[in-house]
Amino acid sequence: MSLDAQRVKKDFPILETLAHGKRLVYLDSAATSQKPRAVIDRMVRFYEEENANVHRGIYELGEKATAAYEGAREASARFIGARSTRSIVFTKGTTESINLVRYTWARANVHEGDEVLVTEMEHHSNLIPWQLLCAETGATLRHLPIDDDGKLRIDLLGEYLTDRTKLVGMSLMSNVLGTINPVRTVADAAHAVGARILVDAAQAAPHLSFDVNDLDCDFLAFSAHKMCGPTGAGLLYGREDLLEEMPPFHGGGEMIREVWADHATWAEIPQKFEAGTPNIAQVVGMGAAIEYLEDLGMDAVREHEMQLTKYALDRIFSIGATIYGPMDVHDRGSVVSFNLEEVHPHDMATIVDQEGVCIRAGHHCAQPLMRKLGVPATARASFYIYNTEEDVDALIDALEKSKGWFI
Ligand code: PMP
Repeated sequence: MSLDAQRVKKDFPILETLAHGKRLVYLDSAATSQKPRAVIDRMVRFYEEENANVHRGIYELGEKATAAYEGAREASARFIGARSTRSIVFTKGTTESINLVRYTWARANVHEGDEVLVTEMEHHSNLIPWQLLCAETGATLRHLPIDDDGKLRIDLLGEYLTDRTKLVGMSLMSNVLGTINPVRTVADAAHAVGARILVDAAQAAPHLSFDVNDLDCDFLAFSAHKMCGPTGAGLLYGREDLLEEMPPFHGGGEMIREVWADHATWAEIPQKFEAGTPNIAQVVGMGAAIEYLEDLGMDAVREHEMQLTKYALDRIFSIGATIYGPMDVHDRGSVVSFNLEEVHPHDMATIVDQEGVCIRAGHHCAQPLMRKLGVPATARASFYIYNTEEDVDALIDALEKSKGWFI
């Protein structure tokens, strides 16, 4: 089943609006995606017909709210191949999920003299928590290098993974280079030295079909807002045995079993990690976003994006841009970072905006990677299910104009 992006576009009300009086061409889905009518309607329906707090109500409405919320957990588990909903902890997004692991599993398991390995292409979300952890514990943070094509130096894994490595944090897909990383290879090597692996799937979940058992990861995190869902919802997948043994993250209501004046016992997983009233409507919206993507078919999503990315890479290259990351679409997703020699990326983004085209410019929350690439910033166009070759053409026409401004 192939994906008809022109038809998909019609599912997204915002894409019918104008920007500076021109057709809106949204090429910043790696920052956040647009939302289909199905997701917006589902959240409205929740508020209009099902709203109550979850896991509390003895009344019918409370049961409806809980069913909607827990339904999203089932959809999430199915989406990533998790064997049990007990492995799915709802959070407000990738950043919170990674910090949850930092404050619970990592604090209990990473000590002075240990090592944490990340890669040179990590988003600050999967870097700063480990910097903070290492500063707190006296552990050492190491960075697996990338090569000139923006791929990981897997050949160096043996050097970077040692019997002191306790955790590997890596992205499945880079938000700057688009590189799709060989997580399973790293997971096998990490497990062989007794380390755990946490996968940042913020960029992968919206675009790639994957299964946590095939990846053999211990933890995996992503955000709803990059995959057609609302802001304020995301998840942490954790292996059940690890979640069981981990101390709680936030303390408060709902995460307890029994409470005395001076101590308490904890609820079963995943509730142990979901203190307080969660972002209920957002989680319900995330479930609807997953169902929307499942209806399109993640293989069809990937196929569409590979074709479109190939077209975009060729066209962006043809105007003399430097492109960062692998050029073969089998090795990358639909994020294209580039620079035009004579134009600053911020100027580029401002000028193309005048033509209704939204792209991102900056360091993309990956400053160490920018340093490695030897640039302060890049422009970034990122494509999704509702983008077409026409959108790429609109970008190129607008970029040609931006070049014109500086000649
Ligand atoms: N990791 C990657 C690779 C990302 O692209 C992002 C979002 N830009 C994040 C983590 C953080 O996600 P969030 O801001 O939704 O927590």
